[in-house]
Order: sequence, then C-alpha cells, then structure tokens
Amino acid sequence: TDNVLLAEADGRVLAADLLARRDSPPHDNSAMDGFALSLADLSVDQPTRLPVIGQALAGYPYIDPVPSGMTVRITTGGGIPTGADTVIMQEQCRIAADGGWIEVGPVVAAKLKSGENIRRCGEDVRAGTVLLSQGVRLRPPNVALAAGQGIAALTVIRRLRVAVVSTGDELCGPGVELPPGRIYESNRPLLIGLLQRLGCTVTDLGILRDDRAILRPALRAAAATHDVLVTSGGVSVGTADLVKDLIAELGTLDLWRLAIKPGKPVAFGRLGDCMTLGLPGNPVSAMVTLLLFARPLLLKRMGAQPDEPVRWRVSADFAFRRPPGQREWLRARLRFDSDRRPWAVVYHTHSSGALSSLVWADGLVELPEESAGVAHGDPVDYLPFSGLE
Ligand code: AMP
Ligand code: MG
Repeated sequence: TDNVLLAEADGRVLAADLLARRDSPPHDNSAMDGFALSLADLSVDQPTRLPVIGQALAGYPYIDPVPSGMTVRITTGGGIPTGADTVIMQEQCRIAADGGWIEVGPVVAAKLKSGENIRRCGEDVRAGTVLLSQGVRLRPPNVALAAGQGIAALTVIRRLRVAVVSTGDELCGPGVELPPGRIYESNRPLLIGLLQRLGCTVTDLGILRDDRAILRPALRAAAATHDVLVTSGGVSVGTADLVKDLIAELGTLDLWRLAIKPGKPVAFGRLGDCMTLGLPGNPVSAMVTLLLFARPLLLKRMGAQPDEPVRWRVSADFAFRRPPGQREWLRARLRFDSDRRPWAVVYHTHSSGALSSLVWADGLVELPEESAGVAHGDPVDYLPFSGLE
C-alpha cells in the first residue's frame, strides 16, 4: 500500500474500509439565508412580529439560547441556536429597515413546518459508518467525502507496474524516414494512455523485432520486474507471430483465441507471477481487447471492486449482416433524434486497422454470439468508452 495525500488520491484504489470519524454535518445548521425561530411563536391568524436579537453566521455561531418570541438572523451553514427549531427564508419575511425585527404573515406561518430549512447533524454521514469501502476507485467526490471528515491522507493500494511492448518487424518509431513496407508504430501511445488512465504505472519497453533471440530475454526481464506485461502483435498464426509461443515456452499460456471480433487471437498467460496479455497488433483489436478483457483483469489484480461495463439499450441506425458464432463489437457513436431518443451510428468501415474509427467513435455496439445481424431500428447494446475508464 501507499499513503497518499488527498491531492494525490484521485484514481487510486482504497486499501481498506474507511469509517467515518464523526457526524457530518457536525452540528444542525441552516440550509437557507433567513431567520432561526421557534415555530410555536408564530400565529396563523395574524402577522407575528419578532425582534431580531443577534446573528448566526456560517463559522460564527450564536452562543446564547434564543428566548421565546425572538429570532436571530442566520446564513446558510450557520449553526442553529438553542431555542430555535425552524428557519424561515428571508424572502418570506417582512424585514424592518434597520433589521431590528421581522414580521411573518399568517399564510407563510401556516405553511412552515417544524425543522424546515435545517440540515441535521449527521444527516449526510453518521460517525462509525463505512465512509468509503475497500477497493473503491477514488473519484473526486470520494476524496471530498474524506476531506469532509478532516482526513489528510488515505491508504491506497500501490499502483500496478505494467510493461508495454510492441512487436513487429514492420514497426518504426518517429523521427525516421519511413522505409518501404514499414509503418509507424501507434499502439504504444494508445495502450500506455489507456493503462495510465486505469491507474497503472507503465514502463514503455519500446518496439521489438519478431525474433525469438530478441523477444525471449526481453519478455523474461520484463516479467521479472512487473506485475503485468502487455504486448501487442505476434499472437496470430503467421510465421512471425512468436509472442504466444514464447509465453508458452517461458511460462504458461492459459488462453489463446476467443470467438470475438475484433481481437480473436488474444492470448493470456503467466510468466512467473507476471500476468501476460498478448494483444493483437491491429490497433482496434488491441484497444477492444484491452478495454474488455485486460481492464477487468487489471482492476481485479489492483484490488479494485469489479464493475460491469456500462451498457445502454439503443436503436440501431444501421443495418448489418454477418454469420453468427462470435461476439462482435462495432465502433459506434450515439445520435439523438428530435424526441431525444438515442440511435447508434456505426463507422463506415469495419477494418480493425482503422485508427481513425476509434477517434470518430465514442463507444462500441455489441452483437451477441447468436446474432445474425441487425436491421435498422433493432435494439442493440451500446457500451460508451467513458464507462470503460
Ligand atoms: P500482428 O498482430 O502482429 O499480426 O499485426 C496485425 C496488424 O497490426 C499488422 O498490419 C501490423 O502491421 C499492425 N500492427 C501491429 N503492431 C502495431 C503497432 N504497434 N502499431 C501499429 N500497427 C501495428
Ligand atoms: Mg506482427
């Protein structure tokens, strides 16, 4: 675990249940700017005039009891003085020009309920209850809740150490003129960014050639110093696809190939204690398998509470035919019609090499294994990328 200041806690995973130390709010206080009074003092037959004997401002409580038939001015957050049981909004009173008294009409008085406009001690948080539970991924409101308890630092689970490597003889880094037949490498910024957003500490191991003599020691060294190794490329069935063979040779290959599209050749294994994810090289396949397969695994490994991807049932604004038998994700965007009903629009090409489609899309449409396609207007599941962070 790490002990981190609240300012550094966003995105981290809480290591243990955190109990509330105190009630919040710590005292009854006003939800409005107005006057604190005793409801029993107000007549419902005629206007009631109450002298204003003091004020209870936020941070500056009125210490003495408020005698019957009198009131004190109060601001939002001001503590409710003893003797008062209700706050009346200042807009609902007639206030003397010098502020020395208020008058409350009978209609307003009849509508006012005892306790109105008062936020009770402990109504937000009760001392001793679980404030934040173990495994929660801290977001700004979680951190704020801890701050509201006077807590300065939180114990969180240490970040997962993840190594990322791209494999492929055709891959070039930036800054060189592209030789014939080669492409610039693009999966590392994609995968590293997604992994960092999940709270991992990422080591960039660069680009490695499709060569056992190079890959073998590199994978072994990465596994020895990381919790997770994420590779891209080299898990399919071509002669240059060496990564999955090396996982089997150096450790255990637990899973290879799923009935999914994109991402079919994805491989999962272990090199010692290091979880190893062999993602396919096509950018779309790499991103989809990272989000839908690696993400839950990483969250579990980092001690976070599991979550399901957010799914919305929307109407297909496209038609698509396909043979059943595999789960498939289409890059999609939502469009809202004049009734504000959501429709999923899909990208014009389904190529898993099209990085531009990932920039265009803000989520995925999921087709289940048995689906033979989608007709325009059919209900489909839409998974926003924002639900996969
Ligand atoms: P592979 O999974 O190694 O068979 O690669 C599948 C496709 O993805 C090939 O067209 C590769 O050139 C491409 N590819 C593999 N790795 C990368 C990468 N890091 N950046 C961009 N494209 C890649
Ligand atoms: Mg390759």
